[in-house]
Amino acid sequence: MKTKHRKSLTSGITAIAVVPTVILGLIISVYSAFNSYSCSYNEIRHELESISLSIYKFLDDAHPGEFDVSDNSIEKGGSELECFYNTVTAINEQTGIDITLFYGSTRYITTVSHEDGSSLVGTKASEEVIERVLVRGEKYFSDNISVDGIPYFGSYLPLTDSEGKNVGMIFAGRDRSEILNSVLNYGLNSLIIAWIVTSVVLSLSLMFSSKIVSSLAKATEFLGKIASGNTECTPDKELAERPDEIGDIGRSAEKLRTSLRYLISCDPLTGLLNRRSCTIRLNDMHDAAERGTPMVVIIGDIDYFKTFNDRFGHACGDKVLKAVSGIMTRAAGEDAVVSRWGGEEFLLAFGGCGYDEVLDILNRLYEEVRTYNMAFGNDNLSITMTFGIQEHKKGMTTDDVINLADHKLYYGKNHGRDCIVDKIPSEINM
Ligand code: GH3
Ligand code: MG
Ligand code: MG
Repeated sequence: MKTKHRKSLTSGITAIAVVPTVILGLIISVYSAFNSYSCSYNEIRHELESISLSIYKFLDDAHPGEFDVSDNSIEKGGSELECFYNTVTAINEQTGIDITLFYGSTRYITTVSHEDGSSLVGTKASEEVIERVLVRGEKYFSDNISVDGIPYFGSYLPLTDSEGKNVGMIFAGRDRSEILNSVLNYGLNSLIIAWIVTSVVLSLSLMFSSKIVSSLAKATEFLGKIASGNTECTPDKELAERPDEIGDIGRSAEKLRTSLRYLISCDPLTGLLNRRSCTIRLNDMHDAAERGTPMVVIIGDIDYFKTFNDRFGHACGDKVLKAVSGIMTRAAGEDAVVSRWGGEEFLLAFGGCGYDEVLDILNRLYEEVRTYNMAFGNDNLSITMTFGIQEHKKGMTTDDVINLADHKLYYGKNHGRDCIVDKIPSEINM
């Protein structure tokens, strides 16, 4: 037969809590990175296009109508061009944006330099840029333009002369790797936050699941004790007080224990202790009696009980049994053990009361039974009982005490019934 692997509830609950959190964390991280890239793209495009347009206006204001190849004003700008260079250098220092002024396709003024620090002045724009900006006269933006082998986010604006001919370009750009780094950093930060949240969820779910598992273990332990017949055990306080479904298991187990204890220790008809549990109580009482606590046992039997059954039916006999049980329980008091010893035979045991005191109780009880009128249909029935009473004396076993009380009862049965026998002639007392 295949044995199923035992699965841990802790790992199950943890997986349920953590797997969706990890997946959500990853989705949020990837989404944040894409979203961050897309926002950066639009923001930087807008920024670079604004800068190139501002520079265009700056040049147009300084030299209105002078972007003219024939008069070569850009080339011969003199101090104005020096001022232009200083301006774009200042912009570059403050914003990190590289700016280039192209004369034709050649870099004329630029803040971009080679790796060795030398300026890119005199170098050419790429074929694609020349084609789109100089030839077609379009504005051009790309997030991956190569400038001297370095990828850039860049915006190009064509410069035209008075005849509408494209004579140069303005370029504003940012190093692509710097932008990607900040996007990555943003994504990384989201990832870190996602992992922190996951760790918190993991810790909380571990705490939560370990509490559940520990309460379930307590419920299992409690049910195990009940299953092994221990009806005196009590549930763990924390389990009993849990206000949830696991607490319900504990409370149901407690009800089960109470029902089981009643079923195995009480007589279902009268509610009195049955012979089995009475014997346990008698043995406890006997231990105390051996240490000097008084112990007195009474056995009582209903006289001619069979006639109730025969004349009025079994239900009548049952009613008599319940009535007698009630009278005896009330008369004996809370500390006494009152049990249904056999069919219509009862055993009462008193621990801690002296013999005379118990004899008084018995006399009252006896009278109460005799004077009790039980209505059954149209009849009023009277009941009598015969009792034997015996006190424990040093060295007697529980059975000795019970047997002596029984002997007295049968002496009474054989001598007219309806009596209490506390002493019998020595020739019968064997
Ligand atoms: P005695 O005075 O000698 O004690 O006679 P008795 O009739 O009381 O005793 P006997 O032993 O002859 O009859 C007892 C009857 O009690 C027999 C049995 O059918 C009946 N009995 C035992 N248990 C129950 C019960 O739970 N309900 C009812 N109705 N009858 C029971
Ligand atoms: Mg009887
Ligand atoms: Mg009997």
